[in-house]
Amino acid sequence: MKVLVVGGGAREHAICDAVCRSKNVELYSIMSNLNPGIQLLAKDSLQEKETNVERVVEYAKEKEIDLTIVGPEAPLEVSIVNKLNEAGIKACSPTKEAARIETDKEWMRNLLKKYKIPGQLKYQVFTDTKNAKKFIEDLNGEVVVKPIGLTGGKGVRVSGDHFKGVNGALDYVKEVIDNKIGGKARVLIEEKAVGEEFTLQAFSDGYTILPLHAVQDHKRLLPGDKGPNTGGMGSYSCDDGLLPFLSKTEYEEGAAILQKIIEALNKEGCKYIGPIYGQFMLTVNGPKIIEINARFGDPEAMNVLPLLDTDFVDICRSMIDGSLNKIKLKIKKKSTVCKYIVPEGYGIKSMVGENIYVDEDKIKSTGSILFYASVNKDDGLVKTTSSRSLAVVGISNSIDNAERICEEALSYIKGDHIFLRHDIGTKELIEKRIKHMAEIHGM
Ligand code: AMP
Repeated sequence: MKVLVVGGGAREHAICDAVCRSKNVELYSIMSNLNPGIQLLAKDSLQEKETNVERVVEYAKEKEIDLTIVGPEAPLEVSIVNKLNEAGIKACSPTKEAARIETDKEWMRNLLKKYKIPGQLKYQVFTDTKNAKKFIEDLNGEVVVKPIGLTGGKGVRVSGDHFKGVNGALDYVKEVIDNKIGGKARVLIEEKAVGEEFTLQAFSDGYTILPLHAVQDHKRLLPGDKGPNTGGMGSYSCDDGLLPFLSKTEYEEGAAILQKIIEALNKEGCKYIGPIYGQFMLTVNGPKIIEINARFGDPEAMNVLPLLDTDFVDICRSMIDGSLNKIKLKIKKKSTVCKYIVPEGYGIKSMVGENIYVDEDKIKSTGSILFYASVNKDDGLVKTTSSRSLAVVGISNSIDNAERICEEALSYIKGDHIFLRHDIGTKELIEKRIKHMAEIHGM
């Protein structure tokens, strides 16, 4: 069986790793950078922009690919799955229409409203700053301002974190509209949800979902959740599939929301095939929907995929065939801590082309897994690009141990211009989360 994975980040390295644990599989890859981890696993790889759909389809035909998995969101928006399907190539990722759940935040909010899906937040869309004022005032300035289209997770600004009060919100609304941030002169303003965030990823065949362990990501660049939002600096998950502040009931509420979303998409005529990602804020009133992504999360894919004991390619085939209900999902009861190494200046101005020295054998000896991200291998040396460089995932029977193992592995990665958040997965930070939840519950 020939499997093509599109994308060259750490999420895609984790996908490729899961694919290669399957028997009788030949892996092919298309990526814009030369990810050394993927290169090592793949029988052949093509360096090409993931959004060059024509070239992707041509390559898939040339290599007689049986199944394609698309890692990032950008190719989904430009119809990569539709075009592959038209060429008779199966893909385990959503079509352009189904991927609107991620690529069009306004459409997503309208869909939730139309189908009365639980976990909604107050929202409105504006093309004009004047009209936005009243809505922001009604919410006492406690709002989140979001460009409508894709911004790589970096266009969203939150009251209290990135701006203050009604005027602060209005300044950013004007900036988004004037500069068409996210591609349109439209802006989504949402009620700010207060609580702790969690991610729930699931496999979907358009009818059934199979949810995976809950994960908590860390979007902010600096320790203690300070600094600008990034694509994600690291994440952790627990052996029981829940999180230290998330109960089984709340997890199930999140999973039920994802199930209702794929049912709604089906009713809208866009059956959702592939991994689906729900980002939730656990509030005093239960989980609220922050964002739905049409793919695995990055870093969150690295927390869940290494734990899969069920054959990943079998799962992918069942997603395409609509037979996910026949799959018995086996997941290792282990905790994971993932920390990303990024180039110095990441989130502001990355130092590009800097060397990173990686002792792969020593990392392996700790029991951690190394996933390469947006780096290039040049003359045997790993070089930074402007995006995240590589990630290490510690896996063990407790978060404490997973964090310790992860740190041990990280000590075998050196570079003069690299940066990471050591606080992710530490007892101190996790206790802060639990305390925060207790506080908002008034305990
Ligand atoms: P997004 O790109 O929608 O995932 O947003 C990026 C980050 O902004 C999220 O990880 C949240 O921390 C925050 N955020 C987005 N929407 C909301 C909201 N309605 N309430 C509170 N925080 C939010």
